Amino acid sequence: MAKRFSVSEYADGILSGNRVMLSRAITLVESTLPTDQALAQQVLDVVLPHAGRSVRVGITGVPGVGKSTFIEALGLHLVREQGKRLAVLAVDPSSQRGGGSILGDKTRMNELAAHPQAYIRPSPAGRSLGGVTKSTREALVLCEAAGHDVIFVETVGVGQSETAVHGMVDFFLLLMLAGAGDELQGIKKGIMEMADAVTITKADGGNELAARRARAEYQNALHLYPLAPSQWSPVVTTSSAVTGQGVPEVWEVVQRYVQQTQESGYFQRRRQEQNLHWLHETIRETLETRFYQRPEVAQRLAEVQQQVMDGRKSAFGAAEELLGL
Ligand code: GDP
Repeated sequence: MAKRFSVSEYADGILSGNRVMLSRAITLVESTLPTDQALAQQVLDVVLPHAGRSVRVGITGVPGVGKSTFIEALGLHLVREQGKRLAVLAVDPSSQRGGGSILGDKTRMNELAAHPQAYIRPSPAGRSLGGVTKSTREALVLCEAAGHDVIFVETVGVGQSETAVHGMVDFFLLLMLAGAGDELQGIKKGIMEMADAVTITKADGGNELAARRARAEYQNALHLYPLAPSQWSPVVTTSSAVTGQGVPEVWEVVQRYVQQTQESGYFQRRRQEQNLHWLHETIRETLETRFYQRPEVAQRLAEVQQQVMDGRKSAFGAAEELLGL
């Protein structure tokens, strides 16, 4: 177990921008030990009033689309040209990479990682989507309290992690390849609908024309969707992380979105809704965990399950019985 500090040591460290303390606090929120969790919640309570002032951007796309290369290019633009402080978090549930992580196991984002205004945190390894979502949300709050004004949350682009990330960010960016076809890219319809912007990556060299064509196609396709509650029409761009073409433009789109939705009040409303959703999600999960941890339940569960499987008990009746214990 890692060395533990007092609540004020963590909080003061985070608020003064001490990245070692920030990392330690994130390790605490990722811990499943009840004592670590209790301490983490106290730290979160103290720093929460200092959080919430960043722009949160979710970034998704299939593996190989160029996420990490793009994040490095856009990230360097933000820290160098825009004077931003950037944190990059990742959601990678139950990583198959033997304890590795999508950010940690590759030599990716080297330049960005070395920049003093950037903070890169890999996804905790071997956690369920629920677990990694919770810890990423909390890490996001800690990063904001530490003074980062832009937060990127990256997904690996498979399964349900896009929905989870969409639920914790202000702006959702989808990276796509030209000419690969929606199905090939594992892009489900719902994901396109979540996107506030799409950028066709690797728009360089011989790929440029195809990228521009894909841009027009996706722009047309997105126009067919009904306008989102944000009243924002999704934007499609092309970009190359190699030449840098189109990379700053993506940030301009994000800024335009933030300005428009802050003026309309949608930005604030959506964050409130996300917080409420999170409240109920936490209650549901906590109740469920406590329920299954009860010794009476644990003792009866296997037998009752068998009875349900054999058709000797209805699922409803069995649930009632266990809940009544
Ligand atoms: P990820 O799996 O989505 O994070 O993708 P990576 O960032 O690791 O990129 C996958 C591959 O595409 C790597 O070999 C990159 O060098 C390459 N790549 C990424 N961005 C670009 C780009 O803008 N242009 C070109 N030509 N190649 C790129």
